[in-house]
Amino acid sequence: MSDPSLPYMARSKTNRSTDPLVSLIVPVFNEEEVIGHFLDVVTKVMREGNIAHKFVFVDDGSSDTTAALLSERLEAGLPGHLIGLSRNFGKEAALTAGLDHAHGDVAVVLDADLQDPPELIPQMIEGWRAGYDVVYGLRVDRTSDSPLKRGSASAFYKLFNRLSNIDLPHNAGDFRLIDRTVIEALKELPERNRFMKGLFAWVGFSAMALPYERPARAAGTTKWNYWKLWNFALDGLTGFSTVPLRVWSYCGAGVAALAFAYALFLVLRTLFFGIDMPGYASTMTAILFFSGIQLLSIGIVGEYVARLFNETKKRPIYMVRDVISDPERPRESAEQSRESDD
Ligand code: UDP
Ligand code: MG
Repeated sequence: MSDPSLPYMARSKTNRSTDPLVSLIVPVFNEEEVIGHFLDVVTKVMREGNIAHKFVFVDDGSSDTTAALLSERLEAGLPGHLIGLSRNFGKEAALTAGLDHAHGDVAVVLDADLQDPPELIPQMIEGWRAGYDVVYGLRVDRTSDSPLKRGSASAFYKLFNRLSNIDLPHNAGDFRLIDRTVIEALKELPERNRFMKGLFAWVGFSAMALPYERPARAAGTTKWNYWKLWNFALDGLTGFSTVPLRVWSYCGAGVAALAFAYALFLVLRTLFFGIDMPGYASTMTAILFFSGIQLLSIGIVGEYVARLFNETKKRPIYMVRDVISDPERPRESAEQSRESDD
């Protein structure tokens, strides 16, 4: 067991031969149909691998019986806590809440719908023991997603990697194991716009990919729709790249150069061939084209200004309504759930 008095940064990676306490961070939003099955599967994997673990459920404002089901299980001895948020803040905020309340040596972030196979957790811990700070799941097979979702996701990753300075691995989700040093690093990031995939990549650290086939949702329905995904993509791009904002200077310079050349041509033509009145179509086309470009560029500036506005308000990322914990148990009897070390 690692010495809890040592600061995390001072721990050497050789400590990793010991069994870590794993915080399982699970954001849940109206998952009553799947949560019971999820708990059975995960608990079985943890028991078989003899993995010390604690759940950190974040109830993201569920309006069904998810929270009641979870608190029942916690009271019955399931190790961990349930952080109840005061309303639905979105998965990214829920993950942030989970990371803030995780006390383990490592954290594993996973969805409640069993699309992130818990069977991979022992392999992730092996990767961690080998010295990696991050072990992330890489989806090799996305046939459970629709072709439109796959196509748009692939286009997004390409665009993101081209525009930003960080490299987002294609087809990596939030499913990953991270070391305590990485958790502490993530907690240092103050921004309100929590594009977690980007933040995970931004903090760096040594990372290993673990390929897996992503199954379909075990039960219940997805909480995403295309409008949400579009806004999520905008959050990602504006959060990690200023290229969309700066590109207009170059567009403007290019257009001005062309306009100057065209103006010169018009002047010379008028000098040599006289005044030529018709030209309604070309004038209209130019006006419409350039007003379109201007509105578009102002709109993009607006996207950044709106986010600046949200950041400057410095509102908390989430609000906690209540925290429900497993019953306090004496240290000796809590084999499956070692006491947290901070
Ligand atoms: N989730 C959440 N808050 C939300 C939406 C989703 O905490 O506002 C949780 C959800 O309960 C699940 C995970 O995030 O555990 C992934 O959601 P979902 O399966 O709907 O997304 P998908 O897998 O379709 O991308
Ligand atoms: Mg899912």
